[in-house]
Amino acid sequence: MVNSISFWQKNNERNKTKVYIIGGGLVGLSAAYFLSRSNLSLEIHILERGEVCGGASIRNAGFACFGSPTEILEDVNLHEVEKTQKLIQKRWEGLKLLLMMVGDKDIAYHQNGAYELIEKNENDVDEIIKAANVIVSDVFADNQVFREKQLPWLANDRYSCIYNDLEGQLNPYKLVRAIQDILRSQGVQFHFNIDIEHIDLENNQCQDIYGTQYIFDKLIIATNAYTKDLLPSAEVMPVRNQVFVTNILKNLEMKGCFHVDRGYIYFRNIGHRVLIGGARNRFPETEDTIEYGNTEDLELFLLHRLRDLLPNHKHIKFEHKWSGILGVGKDKTPTVRKINDHVYAAYKMGGMGVAIGSLVGKELSDNLIVDIQNE
Ligand SMILES: Cc1cc2nc3c(=O)[nH]c(=O)nc-3n(C[C@H](O)[C@H](O)[C@H](O)COP(=O)(O)OP(=O)(O)OC[C@H]3O[C@@H](n4cnc5c(N)ncnc54)[C@H](O)[C@@H]3O)c2cc1C
Repeated sequence: MVNSISFWQKNNERNKTKVYIIGGGLVGLSAAYFLSRSNLSLEIHILERGEVCGGASIRNAGFACFGSPTEILEDVNLHEVEKTQKLIQKRWEGLKLLLMMVGDKDIAYHQNGAYELIEKNENDVDEIIKAANVIVSDVFADNQVFREKQLPWLANDRYSCIYNDLEGQLNPYKLVRAIQDILRSQGVQFHFNIDIEHIDLENNQCQDIYGTQYIFDKLIIATNAYTKDLLPSAEVMPVRNQVFVTNILKNLEMKGCFHVDRGYIYFRNIGHRVLIGGARNRFPETEDTIEYGNTEDLELFLLHRLRDLLPNHKHIKFEHKWSGILGVGKDKTPTVRKINDHVYAAYKMGGMGVAIGSLVGKELSDNLIVDIQNE
């Protein structure tokens, strides 16, 4: 005999719009956050192939940054001034939104500022500071965001240092966990170890690798670097970033987020350890890949670079290493797309997803809410 659904369940669930979100990184979580706070009657499910989150959102360096001066100047060549300013504005708004979302939850956020180290013989630092300040002055209503600073531990005869006190650092794992906790309390349902293989755009359903089907009213694809697998038209390219963490360094003086080589190399303190990562521009033959892994060449390159940058520490070695996959493209503006009346996607977060991910998630949520209200 067929067991009918109860009156109670039917009346509670009848009018709910079923929203599935593929991808439980910062973008998917942020979309769920804003959807769950709307006054619409939604049933929100996150389908995630990892155990907590399988993507960059728990593998990143935890820089809460909007761009180093030379990176910003390089962006101007790529995007022109106005678009670069918009991008910086979005990253800055995204950071503020993210901190608002997590409220008083512990994400180990410290606003220790950010630094760019510039080799003296190759560059005119005053020119860089002046030009970068012109670009960001409108965004921050301040024409002295970047300024030169002497660091007692740095080889100041070889490096100049540009500082700003607006940027911070956080613990990406704690961040993802904090948002997950908030979402659970809002009734969002998580489904981990679910690997979606195919989306049937005609019939509003997707299917995982075991053949289980998920029928949706609305679908959000928040799979960033992996989006092409589900949406072949997506213009996003996966590239790897390797990350290393040192042993505990006695009397470590450095504190904050540091950029070298236009942001391609980054390092920060984690307590008395140093995290360093990047340098994919130096090793394109191995790093233009979607495969996880670490390579000896890149590891040695970063180890030597760190020893050079921290000459007071004679016994630096790496004790932890991992990698993550970035979603990049021809430019640095994230793509937020409506695929059809039921399916939305966002990808191409680049190396700034911590900053911009919350805002992109909100944009997805806003688009979907407006469409439901107009139906
Ligand atoms: C090593 C590294 C360091 C970085 N450092 C910083 C930094 O310091 N500051 C900063 O702002 N940004 C940094 N980034 C970039 C930032 O981490 C990303 O831009 C951001 O996390 C992207 O968020 P997302 O939600 O779009 O993607 P992701 O976090 O990658 O989330 C996508 C999710 O989708 C899931 N998924 C994919 N395909 C499927 C499927 N078919 N079925 C089910 N689930 C699926 C994945 O498992 C993943 O959890 C770094 C990135 C890397 C790799």
